[in-house]
Amino acid sequence: MLAGSRARGQALSRISFVLDWLPVRSLEVLNSQIIRCIKCPRLVTYRQAIAKSKRRQFRDWTYWGRPVPGFGDPEARLLVLGLAPAAHGGNRTGRVFTGDRSGEWLYEALHRFGFANQPQSTDRHDGLRLTDCYVAAMVRCAPPGNKPRPDEFDACRPYVLEELRLLRKLRVVVALGKIAFDHYLRACRELGHPVPSPALRFGHGAVHRLPWGVTLIGSYHPSQQNTFTGKLTRRMFHAVFKQARSLLAKPRR
Ligand code: SF4
Repeated sequence: MLAGSRARGQALSRISFVLDWLPVRSLEVLNSQIIRCIKCPRLVTYRQAIAKSKRRQFRDWTYWGRPVPGFGDPEARLLVLGLAPAAHGGNRTGRVFTGDRSGEWLYEALHRFGFANQPQSTDRHDGLRLTDCYVAAMVRCAPPGNKPRPDEFDACRPYVLEELRLLRKLRVVVALGKIAFDHYLRACRELGHPVPSPALRFGHGAVHRLPWGVTLIGSYHPSQQNTFTGKLTRRMFHAVFKQARSLLAKPRR
């Protein structure tokens, strides 16, 4: 009996191993893989420790404490890329840019320009829906000090590569911050796209038309460091999404 259940367990684990290596056919399947990921020991320890210790104001929450998958419309023409989930934001709520100040800025702007049905993003059951927009991060686990290590970017990049393959209608990418900007281009190089050389320069509002038909827009990240100091104002942030909207309104060349 025991031998039988062990054999069944081994068979299931072999099937699961094979499934992990098959080409991912949908964002749903990809996301179910992402939330099980334990490739980065440092980040696994950190995200779980934060989920246990919690912040006082969220002590009644059951933290997500797992990798945070992408969120939005699988038919999206706009992709917004951030760096990584916040320890008490996405790592608490389980949805990217949800439950923190950066998310308040991002979803308010997406709502203003018609990509979201509401400006609030408080938890993953709050009714938020995105249309023509997908939001993801370069690293899916909250990192200590908001700083993933290079090996953690490398370990997590296959997920964004898969998203870029699956978002077949993609036309505009908004990169929130220079790190997301540079890593998006690196991912594109790995996909075999002819990434321009010398390297494209990040700047707030800088628009780069890429040879494979996608337009990349740089934006300062709506972190508290940028918004509290006035480095990024609402007006500046709105201008980025206004630009994205107007690019999407034009017919594809
Ligand atoms: S950061 Fe990415 S690769 Fe590393 S454990 Fe989290 S989901 Fe997995």
